[in-house]
Amino acid sequence: MQQRADNIGSEGDDEASARVAQVVFNLSLDKGFDYAIPPALRGQLRAGSRVRVSFGHSERSGFVVSVSAKSRHPGRLKPILALEKQNEQIPSQLLGLAEWLARYYCCPKEHAVRALMPAVVRSGAMKHKQLFFVSLTLRAANFGEDFAALTEKQQQVIQHLHRQGAQPLQELQSEVGVSATVINTLCKHGWLHKEKRVVSRDPFHDDLIQPDSPRELTTDQEAALERINASQDAKDAQVFLLHGVTASGKTEVYLQAIHHCLEHGRDAIVLVPEISLTPQTCDRFRRRFGNLVSVLHSGLSDGERFDEWTRINEGRSRIAVGARSALFAPFRKLGLIVVDEEHENSYKQEDSPRYNARDVAVLRGKLEQACVVLGSATPSLESYYNCEIGRYALVELPERVDASAMPAVELIDMAEEAALAGQAQLFSKRLKELILDRLHKAEQIMLLLNRRGYATQLLCPQCGYVATCDNCSCAYTYHRKAAQLICHLCGVQLAAPEKCPQCASKEIRYTGVGTEKIEGILRALYPQATIARMDSDTMTSKDSYKTVLDAFRAGRIHILVGTQMIAKGLDFPNVTLVGVIQADSQLHLPDFRSGERTFQLITQVAGRAGRGDCAGHVVVQTYTPYHFALQAAIKHDFKAFYAEEMPGRRMLDFPPCSRMVIVHFRSQEEALAAATAEKFHQDVLPLLEPAVQIIGPMPAPLSKVKTYYRFQLQLRGGSILKLVALLRPLVVGRSFPKGVDVYLDVDPRNLM
Ligand code: ADP
Ligand code: ZN
Ligand code: ZN
Repeated sequence: MQQRADNIGSEGDDEASARVAQVVFNLSLDKGFDYAIPPALRGQLRAGSRVRVSFGHSERSGFVVSVSAKSRHPGRLKPILALEKQNEQIPSQLLGLAEWLARYYCCPKEHAVRALMPAVVRSGAMKHKQLFFVSLTLRAANFGEDFAALTEKQQQVIQHLHRQGAQPLQELQSEVGVSATVINTLCKHGWLHKEKRVVSRDPFHDDLIQPDSPRELTTDQEAALERINASQDAKDAQVFLLHGVTASGKTEVYLQAIHHCLEHGRDAIVLVPEISLTPQTCDRFRRRFGNLVSVLHSGLSDGERFDEWTRINEGRSRIAVGARSALFAPFRKLGLIVVDEEHENSYKQEDSPRYNARDVAVLRGKLEQACVVLGSATPSLESYYNCEIGRYALVELPERVDASAMPAVELIDMAEEAALAGQAQLFSKRLKELILDRLHKAEQIMLLLNRRGYATQLLCPQCGYVATCDNCSCAYTYHRKAAQLICHLCGVQLAAPEKCPQCASKEIRYTGVGTEKIEGILRALYPQATIARMDSDTMTSKDSYKTVLDAFRAGRIHILVGTQMIAKGLDFPNVTLVGVIQADSQLHLPDFRSGERTFQLITQVAGRAGRGDCAGHVVVQTYTPYHFALQAAIKHDFKAFYAEEMPGRRMLDFPPCSRMVIVHFRSQEEALAAATAEKFHQDVLPLLEPAVQIIGPMPAPLSKVKTYYRFQLQLRGGSILKLVALLRPLVVGRSFPKGVDVYLDVDPRNLM
């Protein structure tokens, strides 16, 4: 039996002298296995090669992740049986990227190599889809001898193929309305020819789209494009931050930059943050570039993903559009990478390798001399700072394409509303008036509340009991329709109690609001309106986004209520009112980016209003109207926000003014996690330069999730590479007490 290769994170050896290869399979075995390299294959195998080996009682294909002179395990190794075809290898540039990924994000090399390829490709188990194609033989092509003697049905089949050309058997059957027997008989008598052909599964499900052509650019767009194209021509791997307000025409700039890229024989990758956006975004690229576009996102079936990846790998498509993992599309002549909405947290992967696709895009650009364009209306402070220090080039689109005004944004002080009404209000008078007005005018409304569920807490006023999850340090959210208490961290669900579990009082109360409650109130207030809700409770299937968004676009929905899901990238011309129910909901979280997130969310959602001919109006309800993040957001003024936010970051030495690493300790035993963290702290202290700040160990803000206690140690310093180099030996390949997980999060986006 082959042996487990534990330490794949350590470096591989010279390929020529290598005698042992570490091979990974899909199999959801999170480990690699050692195999002997037979003499015939010596010097030919390298990390990235796809090989055939025997595994258990069967043969499988797997990928070599590293090679070494000898095995770390005693005993005889099975040999590698064969090297599989060349184009199934991982491109060598990508292996370089994986090396870097493992080093920078401090993870085993095996995890990094894994990230390069969809699981379905790694597994080697997926087959190409084959269909029987039917075509005419020469005899039929010439309506040869005895044609007239054929039955009417048989003649129809041949005439149909004359018009259509070769066709899959089943399609032919249904289009002509004949059975397989008719066709098989024609084959037997030499009229038709039947053969198996490989076809690609269509991720668009035959959803045809109208082609479009490039638009004449505005002066600002033109200037942006020129700089990007000049950099593509120079192959100088420049990184651009394209800062353009919502609807300033960033996407049109991407499209034309891609056109330039293709014309010069190079390929392009477009990263988009959310699966919900992907259909809409994909369509714009498909309209311009047709079937040169491949998509890679989590909404695909395994077969579709396999085929899309293969199309890229074989050079049959030239543009990959997709979420995070599309960054690893196996192009060999990459010219351009676009990262749309670069500030989005979803670019950061939360499992190992914990990489940020935006930052890795910059590196891939460097390795392959490709130009990188990061686009956003609300850039991350990191990217803007990189422009300030000259690492990235700033390109701006300060105006909307059609010169339409940015929507007017009104802040409503909810404390004042409460004082006037004598109690706290969910909807201000102003917002209610405007909703009614828009309904009368048959214009559409979007309302944002960044919390799902009905009530955010179950509280007993008699004894002070708050229902909290046993597995996690958080309160249950009440979902009324399901009559359940649900933990949003671990998903546990229980029936909502009728009386207080602690003192049996029947006066239990539900406090705090979620989208479900807002939806209910709206239905009561505006019975004439059609209302839909979009949050992760209602968006349960692959098609639910499309269904809701199509209905909204067609005007069948008047009011769309949702979480941040509705804030991003959507473009509905008839939306003239956007309301933010509680703009402060994120502002007081224990995270130095809470102001930045609030600014981004409000600015983005405000950008949804007034994209058509009617002017947009935005109402933002808040208890802290004076907060500068809100003040800047209502003016759509990123620079003002940046100018106010940066001095605080500088003073407290938070990113982007420093670089951060968090060491996480997780265990089901609280004391064990705490002790491991404390020991780690003692080990690391003597190694630190004086300029490095270290905070903790301390319980994480969410101190328990899914039965695991969480502790963390936060380090900040001037150089991320130095920090990681110092921490790596303390983490990778080191053993910790059983039952404790220890890992690094480099450039964390989530501090909780
Ligand atoms: P952004 O990506 O900045 O939000 P888009 O590229 O989506 O902006 O542009 C907003 C709208 O303006 C889209 O409908 C787009 O087709 C249109 N548009 C973009 N550039 C031009 C142009 N130069 N001339 C006319 N319409 C344009
Ligand atoms: Zn009670
Ligand atoms: Zn829980």
